[in-house]
Amino acid sequence: MQIACVGGGPAGLYFSILTKRRRPQDEVTVHERLPADADVGWGVTFWADFLEDLRACDPESAGAIADHSVRWSGGVCHVAGEVVTRGGDEGYSIARRTLLDILGARARALGVRMIHDQEVSRSAQLPGADVIVVAEGAGSRLRQSQQPKFGTRITEGRNRFLWLGTDRVFESFTFAFVPTDTGDWLWCYAYPFSDGLSTFIVECSEAAWRALKLDALDREETLRLLERCFAEPLRGHALQCRAEEETGTGLWRTFRTITNDSWHARNMVLLGDAAHTTHYSIGAGTRLALQDASALSSALADHADGRADGGADLGAALGAYELRRKQELRRAQAAAHYSARWFEDFARYARLSPERLFAVLGQRHSPLLPHLPPALGYHVHHGLTAFPALRNLRRWAGHRLATTLHTGSAPASAAVPASRGPAVTREGVGPKR
Ligand SMILES: Cc1cc2nc3c(=O)[nH]c(=O)nc-3n(C[C@H](O)[C@H](O)[C@H](O)COP(=O)(O)OP(=O)(O)OC[C@H]3O[C@@H](n4cnc5c(N)ncnc54)[C@H](O)[C@@H]3O)c2cc1C
Repeated sequence: MQIACVGGGPAGLYFSILTKRRRPQDEVTVHERLPADADVGWGVTFWADFLEDLRACDPESAGAIADHSVRWSGGVCHVAGEVVTRGGDEGYSIARRTLLDILGARARALGVRMIHDQEVSRSAQLPGADVIVVAEGAGSRLRQSQQPKFGTRITEGRNRFLWLGTDRVFESFTFAFVPTDTGDWLWCYAYPFSDGLSTFIVECSEAAWRALKLDALDREETLRLLERCFAEPLRGHALQCRAEEETGTGLWRTFRTITNDSWHARNMVLLGDAAHTTHYSIGAGTRLALQDASALSSALADHADGRADGGADLGAALGAYELRRKQELRRAQAAAHYSARWFEDFARYARLSPERLFAVLGQRHSPLLPHLPPALGYHVHHGLTAFPALRNLRRWAGHRLATTLHTGSAPASAAVPASRGPAVTREGVGPKR
């Protein structure tokens, strides 16, 4: 079988690795528009069970990913100069570039053909391909070219965000909520991902973005303003912005939630962010993209086995892949929906004490929270998480409610550093940590 994979991001590379492992006789070519060393984005975070999943699929790349990841533990939340901490949470992060290097090297070693600096915009550019895997990310052009067949829906988030880096190395997953002179709030999520760098995502409402005139500032002015606003969690360190982050629409972006009624059309199949996106505040997009890759690779191999011509029963394989992944994704999509909404509704929670704010932030995937006054929401979740039996009841009720409220889906358990309980401690007023 000849397989053309458009997009050499995590999804496309991992699919090509798993396919070559299972079926070395297949010809797999990855077409990537960027040069091999292009650096887009900063670090991505993930949890221990993700490494277990990777080990089960391809121990070689899993070992390299584990070796190049950094581990963080605990949670810290800065709220208007006060600092609240929480123990227990533990996760890993890796530089996106390092992840792509590891996956690219492994793909090459298995015989995958990699073509860089090649943008594919029409399927006619890939005439010999039996299967075209569309792994181009959220802005997929091939998907757009067949939009009616896929039934693509795009929902723009209400907040603005910027994906930045900093040489301040955070030890814990850190949030900071900062009130500004205009009365609006800015906030960030930060975590380490290499020896000397951390990811630093800044977010705010559209109203804050306009009131602070962030729409009118250039890159340097934006970074200096944000460094002043976040001076306390940054401890005076600088923020960095990659040139690639600056698109035709400027530095700041809105998050686009993408869904597709169908994930395949003729011999084209969507993978990773091209098929679906989940808000970055649940830190799961890469994991879900790699799980898609594994499911698609298995479906193609399963349907090819036993066929005399060596090709797969394509329609059946792609249908089985789509069905499986749509079911598996429901919980994460619901969690992402409520998590994004929590940040969009941040003004509702801004008056909570720092401890309560941090506790409620840890429960942001809950479909209950938008329907309760914030203080009551805190008490309900505090009560429900204090005892194991009530925790289980809360989880069960949350899944049922999400099923009703969010297009037949239920929220994920903890794809994010969510609170496992209300054990937060205040560290003092405005210390320079
Ligand atoms: C701010 C932010 C923070 C995030 N943090 C996390 C995190 O902590 N943890 C996590 O798991 N996920 C995180 N994510 C999500 C994660 O980055 C994505 O879900 C993941 O990268 C999806 O992988 P992909 O391969 O499907 O798409 P992409 O990573 O977008 O890769 C697509 C590739 O296709 C290439 N391409 C595009 N168009 C063409 C074309 N026409 N021809 C050829 N090549 C093309 C692109 O150059 C790119 O290399 C974050 C996302 C954002 C925006």
